[in-house]
Formats: sequence, structure tokens, C-alpha cells
Amino acid sequence: MSHVLAAVAWPYANGPRHIGHVSGFGVPSDVFSRYMRMTGHDVLMVSGTDEHGTPIQVQADADGVTPRELADRYNRVIVEDLHGLGLSYDLFTRTTTRNHYAVVQELFTGLHDNGYIVAKTTLGAISPSTGRTLPDRYIEGTCPICGYESARGDQCDNCGNQLDPEQLINPRSRINGETPQFVETEHFFLDLPAFAQALGKWLDARDGWRPNVLKFSRNLLDDLQPRAITRDLEWGIPIPLDGWRDRPDKRIYVWFDAVIGYLSASIEWARRSGDDQAWRQWWSADAQGKDALGYYFMGKDNIVFHSVIWPALLLGYSGAGDKAGEPGSLGALNLPTEVVSSEYLTMEGRKFSSSRKVVIYVRDFLERYDADALRYFIAAAGPESNDTDFTWAEFVRRNNDELVAGWGNLVNRSISMAAKNFGAIPPALDQTPEDHALLDTVRAGFASVGELIGKHRQKAAIGEAMRLVAEANKYLSDQAPWKLKDEAAKPRMGTILATALQAISDLNTLLTPFLPHSAQKVHELLGGTGVHAPMPSIVEVDDLDGGPGYPVLTGDYTVGARWESVPLVAGTPLAAPKPVFRKLDPSVVEEELERLGS
Ligand SMILES: [Zn+2]
Repeated sequence: MSHVLAAVAWPYANGPRHIGHVSGFGVPSDVFSRYMRMTGHDVLMVSGTDEHGTPIQVQADADGVTPRELADRYNRVIVEDLHGLGLSYDLFTRTTTRNHYAVVQELFTGLHDNGYIVAKTTLGAISPSTGRTLPDRYIEGTCPICGYESARGDQCDNCGNQLDPEQLINPRSRINGETPQFVETEHFFLDLPAFAQALGKWLDARDGWRPNVLKFSRNLLDDLQPRAITRDLEWGIPIPLDGWRDRPDKRIYVWFDAVIGYLSASIEWARRSGDDQAWRQWWSADAQGKDALGYYFMGKDNIVFHSVIWPALLLGYSGAGDKAGEPGSLGALNLPTEVVSSEYLTMEGRKFSSSRKVVIYVRDFLERYDADALRYFIAAAGPESNDTDFTWAEFVRRNNDELVAGWGNLVNRSISMAAKNFGAIPPALDQTPEDHALLDTVRAGFASVGELIGKHRQKAAIGEAMRLVAEANKYLSDQAPWKLKDEAAKPRMGTILATALQAISDLNTLLTPFLPHSAQKVHELLGGTGVHAPMPSIVEVDDLDGGPGYPVLTGDYTVGARWESVPLVAGTPLAAPKPVFRKLDPSVVEEELERLGS
């Protein structure tokens, strides 16, 4: 048994999240975490909202609120959405906690002490009329790479390239349109080239990664440049060095702070658990941490932060780059075991776009459809290893043909028949080779489905589980227990139904990581009691260090089903079941398409 860290990408808190966001990393990380817990591993699943940086500052200015107020608003929205999806975070927190500030500053200090953070003079923009620093995102101009006229000082939204404001053609202030003045200013840079060797060695030893992720990461090492980790901005974490700490115009760059969230959230979880040091079981590189595995889940646009930059920060803090050094006060830290990146989800053939209304927010989706219907679609047809298109027609088809007609129907007709004819789980008497064959086939799923989930091949895993569902449906059709109604045949009818119900119980366990809400229902329909699939809760907490309180997502996941077949007990009372899944009327396709902008 291992200590398994499930480190899930941090949603940015400048608006509600759409289903593309949760398809790439939200649901897949939950499926993996639930499976690993069911097989007895000690899982720590952490994330939170990413709340610093210029987009939030810009959005807050536009809305006439403070960045903190904006972050508060969307932190809560996102927490509620992830709760609605049943994502089993041990802790979903945020980057504006005092704990996070302290951990980020500790990593900055440790890297600085080891010589991996260097000061450099660069060009910064100021407003000629006020003399104040003009943050990068407040500068707009023509992209020098693609010619897009509204590129921002830190990034071109058209071609996606990162920019420096002085590269823009015809730069202008987004606040008042004036041309900024560029003056020399000092910033801190992470000395990435000092990690090229250590990162290369580490990447060479990686096993089982998706080949595109490994190749992409390996290529990045050929051209590592020092990377700015501070920015001209007021909204962010102060730089923890004398002469910088109190400057209101210089902050740690948002990407540097957000990526450290995996560690700070783990530390916060430990502090809240009553054992301040418990996080070390997942993070410490010493003997105690030898069984620790770390899996990072994200969209492909974030690979570089997880396969190169975050490992570089961990190496530098641990004193393991070209310049060596000593581990900081947290000790030497573990590097990721695997970076699990997904591709993009598109919407009816187009890129998700909130401004063009090519979007469906998680909240709106969950108001009209069940969480497990979306979880099923994501697992069966999500952007696991290819860009994938979400269409309403395909969503309805999969819901109706696979979830309702395949799995739901098997559950419903078997339990109905048993309830009606026996009022309880009937005894299995003199099982035939066909009965044993079905049970053996389904039980083999614990190995085959489990192995696929463990290798992050969830699409194949749920495909295999649904293949076994089809086997059970076929068994039922072949055995036709409904024909065995007369008294003499009834024991055989009971045996067939007992066999089918046992298969359903096992299939339900196989589907639990994917469909936890309905798995709990099926467990109860089979007469089970207690928690089968544990769910997260939203808890209002105080900041541990005196800041304002906030909602977190957390839960007790030590309870619930294990990844194994549990024999049903004959005589357990059964009631007539309510359908577990909702069949959707095909007209919803048209309704939903009308909601989309053109
Ligand atoms: Zn561009």
C-alpha cells in the first residue's frame, strides 16, 4: 500500500467553470483517487482555486470590486460546482490563505538561499501621466508574432504565445490609452538552466507516462531560459526579501504561487487533521516517503508547469540542481511520479468561449442533468488522449443507449423481478456452468478494469466495465427467468436472479469510481446499508492563521466499498426499485443548441 498524492490542477477564480474545465482533470482525478482508495491506498487529493494574477485584477476593476471580493465570489461558485460533481477532494482550498502565502514564501526563500533565484534588470512599463507602474496585462498592442491587434503585455490570446510588454507593436495603456514608457526595473528569475541536467536524468527514468507528455517535456529541456517569477503587479504574494517585502508594486508571479499550491494544500490538510507533520508521508523524499507516489492531473496547456517548472522548484528547494545547496526547513521534497495530461474538449465543433456563449457552465449543466450522466460522458468520451467534441446529440445518445438502456435497465429489471417474485434476494441453488461463467467473467473485471484505471486509461476502463454489463444483460436474455413462473420452475428462476444480482453488485463496484452517486443508489436497491461511495462536503472553516474564513471541500473517504466482490446474502429484503438513471427526451438537443451562441 502506498501514499498516493492526487494533485489536481487549480481552477482560476475569475469566473464560473465550464464542463471543458472539469472534463480534462476534475473527473479523471476523482475516478483515479476513488479507485486507489478502494484498493487500500492512502490517497491525498488536493487542489483549490487559483486567485492571484492580473486577469483577476483586471476583472475586479471591470466589476468595481476588489480582487479579493472577486476571488471570494468565484471560489464559492467553483467549490459548489465541484461538490455537485461529487469530486472527492481531501482538501479543496484556495491560494489566498495565510498558510499558502507562508509556504510560497518559504519555497522562494529556500530557492533564493540555494542560489537558484537571480535578480535581473528588465524593462518595465510606467504610466507617463501618473508615474506609476503599469502592470503587463494593462498594456495592449499588436502581437509581434501573429499580428493580432489586441495582444496583452503578458500574452497574446490569439496565438497563445507569452510576451513581454516591450515586444508589443504600438503599445498602449488599457486604462487611458496613453503610450507607456519603458524604464529599467529589477525582477527575480528562476535559473531554469541550472536544472537541465537533473531534470533530464529524472525524465529519463520516467515510466508509463503518455508518450506525448514525455516527448514534449524532454524537448523543453533543450532550450531552458531563466524565467521571471516576479511581476509588476499589486495583487499577489509579497516577495519575502529585505527591501522587497513591503513594496506594493512587486509581487510573486501567479504561476509560481499556484503551482506551490499542491504542497501548501497538503500542509493545510495536515494542520487541519490534527497532525501538522502528516503531509510528509506524501512529500518527504526521505525513508518515510519511499512509498509515496504523486500523480498530477491537468490540461495539456499546463504540462510545462508540472513536468519541468514544478520539478525544478522541488529540486532547487531540496538542493539538487547544478548549484547544489541544502534542503529548506520543509526538508527534501518528492518529485512527481507521473504527469497525467488531458487534451481539449470542444463544444459542438467549436472552442469553448464564455464571451461568445459557446459554453455550458457546470452549474447550469447540473441544474438540468444528473452529475453521473456527465461523469459517464467524460469517462466514456472525454478528451483523454485526443481533442474531443462534446455534442448534445452524443450526450443524449450515450445517456439513453448506454447508461439507461444498458446499465440502468439491467439493474431495474433484475431487482424488479426479484422484488416482485421473492420480495428478497433469492437463494442461489445448484448454479449451472452458465451461472458460474457469468460470475467469473464479471469478477475478472476487478483485475482488468482496475489495471486500466491505474494506467490512466479510463476510457478503456469504462468500456471494459460496460462490456461486462452487456454480458450480464445477455445472460439474463438467454436465461429468460420471466418464463419460469410456475411453481416447479421457481427455484431456478430464483437462482438466475440471484446470479444476476450478484453480477450487478460486482458491476456496481466496478462502476463506483466513475458513477459514485448512482453506485450508492444501486447499493441501497440491493438492500445494502451505510456508505458505499463517500461524498465530499462543503465546510466553512476559519483561516488557520487569522485571515478571513472560507469554504473548503473535504470528506471522510476511509468508509465505503472496497475493490472486491462482496457476496450478497440470500433473504435480504428487496423493494421495487425506482429507475436509477433518467432517460432524456431527444428534444433537449434542440433546446440546448438554441442556448448556444452562434
Ligand atoms: Zn499573437
